[in-house]
Amino acid sequence: MGAVSIEEESVKRLRCRECGRLRDFEPAYVCENCFGPLEVAYDLDAIRQRVSRHTIADGPASIWRYRELLPAPAGNPIDLGTGFTPLVEAKNLGEALGLDHLFVKNDTLNPTGSFKDRNVAVATNFALSYGFDTLSCSSTGNLAGSVAAYAARAGLRALVFIPADLEPGKVGAASAYGATIVEVEGTYDDVNRLCAELADQYRWAIVNVNLRPFYSEGSKTLAFEVVEQLGWQAPDHIVVPVAAGSLLAKTAKAFHELVGVGLVEGVPTRIHAAQAEGCAPVSTAIQRGLDTVTPVRPHSIAKSLAIGNPADGRYAARAVRASGGWGTACREDAVLEGMTLLAETEGILSEPAGGVVVAGLRQLVEEGRIERHETVVICITGNGLKTTELFHPGEGRRLHLSKARASEFEKALAGVEKTPAAVG
Ligand SMILES: *Cc1c(COP(=O)(O)O)cnc(C)c1O
Ligand SMILES: [Zn+2]
Repeated sequence: MGAVSIEEESVKRLRCRECGRLRDFEPAYVCENCFGPLEVAYDLDAIRQRVSRHTIADGPASIWRYRELLPAPAGNPIDLGTGFTPLVEAKNLGEALGLDHLFVKNDTLNPTGSFKDRNVAVATNFALSYGFDTLSCSSTGNLAGSVAAYAARAGLRALVFIPADLEPGKVGAASAYGATIVEVEGTYDDVNRLCAELADQYRWAIVNVNLRPFYSEGSKTLAFEVVEQLGWQAPDHIVVPVAAGSLLAKTAKAFHELVGVGLVEGVPTRIHAAQAEGCAPVSTAIQRGLDTVTPVRPHSIAKSLAIGNPADGRYAARAVRASGGWGTACREDAVLEGMTLLAETEGILSEPAGGVVVAGLRQLVEEGRIERHETVVICITGNGLKTTELFHPGEGRRLHLSKARASEFEKALAGVEKTPAAVG
């Protein structure tokens, strides 16, 4: 094992989520005792002594402002400028859905266009600290691009595994960063099983497999930012898209830690899971009140969320239930409607995951689970520029001129608009 330059091992350790056994940091992800999954545990009392709203405000405008609550390298982290994305008040979308205090956490603005940069930033620095030379992942699309970009930045080899049917924009982006792309005929779950097997054979940093405890800590930073950006106030509701369930489970962990280190007094936030009908194992478990998640075979337009056997599914379901939240499974055709509504009301172009969230929010409001006066945050986690093939101009929204003449334009416009073309 390479020289360990991850900081503060006495304050930050690995803990088994099932039996609670503690161990020091190392590239491990399964408990030796019970085979349960490992996660990072912090000595929150110790960290409380040295973080405050002021020390955080003095930090960089990136995820690293929360480095005390992350597995962080001792020196300056390698980064692309991940995190501290805008939290924008969405008045137009709120009006359309019947909400007075709706906010969009616009994570489409991360360096590679998705929230996965948060996870990969943390995992990459960990991989460097432990002397890995290959950065890898099993991906539903966005993770591949993020791993490829971070590997380029860090000077590591990138080897990304994806299902063969992904959106071309996502594959293209990953290849542009210089990654070797391995396309597998099968579902994401097949790809992930292959990666778990390879993790035993090769000493690679497969970020969401053998570095998963460190990788998934990055997800917390979205919730940290939301609370800070609301003036150190947690929202009444947050709607989170769910694939493997890391972002959702870690949102709950983030809230818990914010209270534990004294940055906020309490977090009343109801956490809601958003999935699409074609792949909704976590939302189904929540709706049925079950603790176990039954795997499904995905058929969904929301490919980034198409994980039929989610690694953190039961932790996500548990977190939703403990918070008093709910799980939505929107119609497949509501996904594109949601993407379009967000784009047309707020000027934010999202990939299908965002459409799933907007459609889920609409359901939560219609079912009376969210009330008009409450503060709501929706997580828009992936950029629609990677999935533009899904967008088609609506009826009358595309005018074609056979010649570059004003008269041609006026004729075309008159065909779609009742008002006169010329002004003044
Ligand atoms: C991966 C992904 C998610 C879900 O992440 P999990 O932590 O696996 O649940 C949500 N949105 C987008 C755009 C993603 O790429
Ligand atoms: Zn254990």
